[in-house]
Amino acid sequence: MADCSLLTRELLAQLVGFDTTSRNSNLDLIAFIEDYLARHGIAATRIDHEPGAKTNLLATIGPEVEGGTVLSGHTDVVPVDGQDWASDPFLLDERDGRLYGRGSADMKGFVAVALAMVPQFLAAGLKRPIHLAFSCDEEVGCLGVRPLIRHMARALPRPAAVIIGEPTSMQVVNAHKAVHTYETEVTGLEAHSSNTHQGVNAVMVAGELLAEINHLAAEMRERGDQTGRFDPPFTSVHVGTIAGGTAKNIVPRRCAFNWEARFIPGADTEEVPARVAKRAKELLPAMHAVSRDTGIATRRTVEVPGLRPADESPAETLALTLSRSNSTGAVSYGTEGGLFQQAGFPTVVCGPGSIDQAHKPDEYVEASQLAACEAFMQRLARSMAS
Ligand SMILES: [Zn+2]
Repeated sequence: MADCSLLTRELLAQLVGFDTTSRNSNLDLIAFIEDYLARHGIAATRIDHEPGAKTNLLATIGPEVEGGTVLSGHTDVVPVDGQDWASDPFLLDERDGRLYGRGSADMKGFVAVALAMVPQFLAAGLKRPIHLAFSCDEEVGCLGVRPLIRHMARALPRPAAVIIGEPTSMQVVNAHKAVHTYETEVTGLEAHSSNTHQGVNAVMVAGELLAEINHLAAEMRERGDQTGRFDPPFTSVHVGTIAGGTAKNIVPRRCAFNWEARFIPGADTEEVPARVAKRAKELLPAMHAVSRDTGIATRRTVEVPGLRPADESPAETLALTLSRSNSTGAVSYGTEGGLFQQAGFPTVVCGPGSIDQAHKPDEYVEASQLAACEAFMQRLARSMAS
């Protein structure tokens, strides 16, 4: 099996060494990349997300003309809290052809390869540019990339393709689900638990709403996946956390829960929240009969659009050629790809490593995957030079 370059290994070790868990600043990592690019004579632009704490970085290699390719990667990683690792998650460790470290697969491996290829991109005589777009705050709802995409839509000569390097084992992925998350808060009325009729039990009202969400989850599963491409083959609905009540002898005043739906692209994303809102409306009169101060409020906390397959997409054609493949895949996790597509950029997802290792203890990327990504980018350089 092919092995990746020493430079890719070194850069990945550096990137993994920065603890860029989403709650932390990513400025040290961005300064490191800026410095590396500057040593190759490449200027980079910061597009701030949270000034003083988190920023995105955009750099162009080659002429400032249309028709370029964007290599897009996020710089943040998920927490290691409570995970049992065999080695230090922020110290890249190589064992049996696998490079272990937080973010090695998701997705500092891709960023390391893109950076390691810079000297070759420069030497290739590019006729169309390769843009590097590195974002922050992806793991908390694809938040950081939004100002970056707005900037790119405004300021960049129109690129022909965006490649999101999330781990797909270098398979070209042209579809992913949309992710919408919600928080529902039930406000009831406190009372002594011997006088249930004088209170409004927020936990029990929440239970009615959860029952409706369960019905919806079963219905969506029944309805299935018309595209036949997704695993699991349905729009999934799930409740992640719930909190409510203060003591067993107090009718609880408050109950809140967080839930989400992951929609097959093309599914009506308003149906699930509308059904929950309808059930809430049915529950309100009985609550209001006891107190007008009670209520049910649901707000959408995150909205990541799905990636829809696009006919004759230049991004798909390019990525299939570069990966020497003729078939595309679909994944159930969300990426920044849907947002790029929404802004009018032809987009696919293709990157080294497997999502099976992402977010887990002992996350790793195989050196052979990084090598495959290097070969992909070498072909990209030739393609952009011809
Ligand atoms: Zn990722």
